[in-house]
Amino acid sequence: MYDVRFYKGNYSWRQKQANRDKCTAYVEQHFNASANTSSGYAVVVTGYRASETSKNWGRWYANKVGQVFNIPVAGRGGILVGGFNGRGNGNLKHTKMPAILLEPMFVSNPQHAEWVRSTAGQDKLARILADSIIEVFPDGSRIGFSIGHKYKTSRPRDRGAAVYGGGAEADYAEIVMGKAKDILENYDASASQQETSSLKEEDAPINDIRIIKDGKELWHHADIDEDDEVIWDKENLILHITTM
Ligand SMILES: [Zn+2]
Repeated sequence: MYDVRFYKGNYSWRQKQANRDKCTAYVEQHFNASANTSSGYAVVVTGYRASETSKNWGRWYANKVGQVFNIPVAGRGGILVGGFNGRGNGNLKHTKMPAILLEPMFVSNPQHAEWVRSTAGQDKLARILADSIIEVFPDGSRIGFSIGHKYKTSRPRDRGAAVYGGGAEADYAEIVMGKAKDILENYDASASQQETSSLKEEDAPINDIRIIKDGKELWHHADIDEDDEVIWDKENLILHITTM
């Protein structure tokens, strides 16, 4: 039901190839990194002119990562439209289909790096990616995958950020995407009752706001949806939630 293709070459070339193949959706996998080793949130980048489908898909993915790994999400409800001051937009802007760029965790953060390097963590990330595609694109079919940094013609040695404890961002991105491809290509929508019921249970907004201190949840606010305005007042350290 799903046919997953990996696209290689420079970023604009990958996107043009995905357009040519009429992909239903396009996704590029990265991991974040920072000089501050305690930085640790999930976020998804969409293009400046992303469709609502891309935005909803990105929010679904980021919030699911937040939920499963108990980490905060950043951006607006989990997405950064247009990227980090424009960085990331070029990885997506040539696509004609919904497209997102994943930054699910920080490989500079020791705890996150442990997840990224472990089979269990990789399996969870692959499952979330596959589930996000099944959720948003239930009819399939061809999905374009791009591994951030790796296989660029212009900089063939680029592997992205160094991972705490060893390895490189792009190599782990490739492992996770490979696992997601396996899940998607073996997925049978009609076969699994369990699958439908678990999806039903998840048919609720996942915009929960949580306060996490040193990895432990202190506060959880679940009564929130996309129409609420959430503003963090940096100066006074107050989070304002307003139902519009
Ligand atoms: Zn990257």
